[in-house]
Amino acid sequence: MNWFQEKLYEHHKQMLSMESVIYHWRTEFQDVLIFENATFGKVLVLDGIVQLTERDNHIYHEMIAHVPMLAHGSAQEVLIIGGGDGGTLREVLKHPVERATLVELDGEVIDLSRRHLPGISERAFDDPRASVLVMDGTRYIAETESMFDVIIIDSTDPMGPGEPLFTPAFYRACRSRLRPGGLIVVQSGAPFFQPANLEMVCGRLAASFSAVRPYLAPVPTYAGGMLALVAAGGSRDGLCPPCRVLRERFGALQGRTRYYVPEVHRAAFILAPSFEPSSLREDPMPAGVLKSGA
Ligand code: SAM
Repeated sequence: MNWFQEKLYEHHKQMLSMESVIYHWRTEFQDVLIFENATFGKVLVLDGIVQLTERDNHIYHEMIAHVPMLAHGSAQEVLIIGGGDGGTLREVLKHPVERATLVELDGEVIDLSRRHLPGISERAFDDPRASVLVMDGTRYIAETESMFDVIIIDSTDPMGPGEPLFTPAFYRACRSRLRPGGLIVVQSGAPFFQPANLEMVCGRLAASFSAVRPYLAPVPTYAGGMLALVAAGGSRDGLCPPCRVLRERFGALQGRTRYYVPEVHRAAFILAPSFEPSSLREDPMPAGVLKSGA
């Protein structure tokens, strides 16, 4: 049997059996591998790092999309940077948005995902509300005059092509493209193995946003088990509204999610103190989270 080895850390590797290799190629920007695993179904790997699997991608995509969408409550214009597999687009389009703009650096990721992983986007790319641009997210944000209610950074890790999507200048530019009440969510790595990554994202977002709150999603195929996402906006409570408010907003989505429910939204913002970025520790969040509306 052939095995795929993900070597993210010096003393820890993850291995997944490759029942078959579906596609392996180097695009202009990165190495793309798609293979079949008996437990997780098809797996998408970029530059040796697992991006998603058919079996557990719903946890990541629902949590990166529905947390900001339901925290906002009436988002009409949504921007996704990265996310060329279409999973985040699929979840965003479950909401009655006017438009979801997806800006992906590597057009081959979109084409390959549509061809080999059609269950990830579920035809979201054909939705008339979807607008897809193939270009660097930093260039797009610097040049666009559009304004958004929600911006989702569904990027690779802060190395290679994804690195510029983690800079203070990029977050500042995103802030300037948000309408009043707008929110941003950033994929921020595995807090167990990459605490510095989460610390960096929180610190840099805090320079542009008055409220910054990390939350967690358990994704089995992300080494470390827990993925950190960071939400930022104008108010702390706005990122994690009371359950009663989330339940009202969740109405039309009922039965269309497999992991996200309002109670999970609330619980995801409760971090164990050891995961809490030190820059946010002076302002403990669990007290407020636990007292109101749970
Ligand atoms: N679920 C994911 C994970 O594991 O981190 C993210 C998935 S999605 C495939 C990440 C996408 O971000 C990739 O397709 C990559 O090409 C895209 N990307 C990386 N750097 C980018 C940039 N500067 N601008 C736009 N897209 C970028």
